[in-house]
Amino acid sequence: MIHPEKAIQLILSRIPAQARVRLALEEAAGLYAACDIPAPYDHPFFDQSAMDGYAIRFDDLKEGNEFVVVGESSAGAMQIPGIKKGECLRIFTGAPLPESADTVVMQENVKRSARKIVLQQVPEKKGLHVRQRGEQIRKGDIAFRQGKRFNPAAIGFLASIGVAHVDVHARPRVSIIATGSEFLEEGAPLQRGKIFESNSVMLRMALQREGLDAKTMKVRDDEELLSSRVKLEAAKSDLLLLSGGVSVGDYDFTPGALERAGFQMIFHKVSQKPGKPLLFALRDDCVAFGLPGNPRSVLNSFYLYVLPALQKMLGAAEPGLLQSVLPLAEKVKKRGDRTWYLSGKVKEGRAVPLDGQGSHMLQSFSEASIIIKIPHDKNEVQAGEEVEVYFIPQ
Ligand code: AMP
Ligand code: MG
Repeated sequence: MIHPEKAIQLILSRIPAQARVRLALEEAAGLYAACDIPAPYDHPFFDQSAMDGYAIRFDDLKEGNEFVVVGESSAGAMQIPGIKKGECLRIFTGAPLPESADTVVMQENVKRSARKIVLQQVPEKKGLHVRQRGEQIRKGDIAFRQGKRFNPAAIGFLASIGVAHVDVHARPRVSIIATGSEFLEEGAPLQRGKIFESNSVMLRMALQREGLDAKTMKVRDDEELLSSRVKLEAAKSDLLLLSGGVSVGDYDFTPGALERAGFQMIFHKVSQKPGKPLLFALRDDCVAFGLPGNPRSVLNSFYLYVLPALQKMLGAAEPGLLQSVLPLAEKVKKRGDRTWYLSGKVKEGRAVPLDGQGSHMLQSFSEASIIIKIPHDKNEVQAGEEVEVYFIPQ
């Protein structure tokens, strides 16, 4: 049995990144940059107005507050008339500044007559309300760093500076195998002794949230059946997630099936609650997790181990959930020397553990926004004491 920190360290140090591919920018949403991306141009591309108003030459203000309007520049305009001493140009937000102008006065600050404006308020400095060419980024400078995620802002930013294709690590092919002989057939009514299978759909949805598809399947607790299915799926997948059958009971065939398919066990059993039987195994062409069967253990293990693993495969610079430290809202008493993970929420800046933390229970998880870590070496954490928390993607 190993500590959770050791487990995560083994995962991150052993998992290779997926092969690199080049994608159209919008196809890369949710993936990570496989290399630094330089800006193809200065941005803004040209000096432009930040306001609706009038473009002037600042130094002309020495001569007075009146300017003759000699033309107009609107967004998208390409032929812009120049201005001479004492002249100005009607200008709109985003429109190119005429060659000789350097300052924009807001239309609210001028009195306009047919051919002339009189400034009611003098701009305090040269360059006011002008977006300078290259003010955000210079051509050739790094616009986006390797390992950062293409979130909506990143996609928007890169599109705005003219990046149309990016290098990423390919999405892994994922297969989910739910093992168990207790599952009802799809759509069948409840029968005593049977249960609704829920882990595969939950994992598939968690992956979908990350922009990844997965195949799901169910296999009875049968050594031969499971072994052949694991062999088959491992050959077609980059990541294999098994749920159930990972402990040491008579019907727990997951570890054996992985070994027979040529996987090397990296660890089996983590000193934590929930999710003690967690297993991580590798083959040259495939990464496998044996997740416990209990639904809460499955989801907790997904967020703390599988998600960072996936992010590592995708080349993320900082794999793992966003973490912070918060004061605990109420005292927690812990038994045993495992690390505990409690689902909770944040209220008034404090971490509140929710009721119903049994590993077979998911209701509290469905309301949770954080996972609270109670360290292995503490038997009691007082109200107000700081604890580590992980933010659950919503
Ligand atoms: P196991 O790890 O196979 O011993 O399963 C532990 C518990 O989780 C048992 O109560 C199982 O019925 C339950 N379980 C296992 N797999 C699933 C699943 N796919 N969906 C819902 N519950 C499951
Ligand atoms: Mg089972």
